[in-house]
Amino acid sequence: MGDDMSDLHEPILRWYDEHARDLPWRGPGATPWAVMVSEFMLQQTPVARVLPVFESWMSTWPTPAALAGSPSGEAVRAWGRLGYPRRALRLHAAALAIVERHAGEVPASYDDLIALPGVGDYTASAIASFAFGGRHAVLDTNVRRVFARAVAGGEFPAPAVTKAERVLAESLVPEEQPATWAVAVMELGALVCTAANPSCPQCPIQDQCAWNTSGRPAYDGPPRRGQAWAGTDRMVRGRLMAVLRDAEGSVSRDRLEAAWSEPVQRERALKSLIADGLLVETAGDRYALPG
Ligand code: SF4
Repeated sequence: MGDDMSDLHEPILRWYDEHARDLPWRGPGATPWAVMVSEFMLQQTPVARVLPVFESWMSTWPTPAALAGSPSGEAVRAWGRLGYPRRALRLHAAALAIVERHAGEVPASYDDLIALPGVGDYTASAIASFAFGGRHAVLDTNVRRVFARAVAGGEFPAPAVTKAERVLAESLVPEEQPATWAVAVMELGALVCTAANPSCPQCPIQDQCAWNTSGRPAYDGPPRRGQAWAGTDRMVRGRLMAVLRDAEGSVSRDRLEAAWSEPVQRERALKSLIADGLLVETAGDRYALPG
């Protein structure tokens, strides 16, 4: 890349201006609550799967108070097939806290946001930036990958965020349009600088990118975590949750046994769902979403 890291700003911001997807949680019409809901949903789920659930969620619960007024089990049901359904419980708990502590308004400051249940550094930075225009380094997997390649010159970032990465990301936040910068780098990572097949010839910073200009050397860091799914406990949990979401009220144990016949893994999944508060055992060996 060039001598001055701010060389990245102009081409990335211009590229975003031309290529940004029109998403309902972006733009002037999106409320801070819409931004918050989208950030919870997008944490581990791609945009295409999030869109329909987001739309119906926002029409059911257009404010934190609306969600806080519904049982947490309804939030889990509406989460549908987004996966990692503990996020639904956390979002519900965050809505309750927003009602109690902030009179039902999503707070604007990073410190108030990170104090909410289920909100970590990434989500607090993203909401403070995207909803309120704050000046924060927003380090999601897409942003981390772009900086790892463009600036650090490796194919992938470290498994977890490092101090050096944070310092670098903070130093790159521009004085003007900090929120647009955050979303623009994220979008570049999602659409062009993808994990498996980055489209370097289409990239606005191809001539400055350290990894590209050094011939895209092969990754030689620590093993990367995969997202294995088939046959995993997470898949079994998903099957059991689907039975509960589709049921009116509680279901018998037989229904869960039919969803996954292997007993050891099924029981382990069932216990973990109960421990996570996603399912409750009711009378007569029956199971239900939380009340
Ligand atoms: S040139 Fe390639 S590797 Fe570098 S930032 Fe662009 S898409 Fe990513």
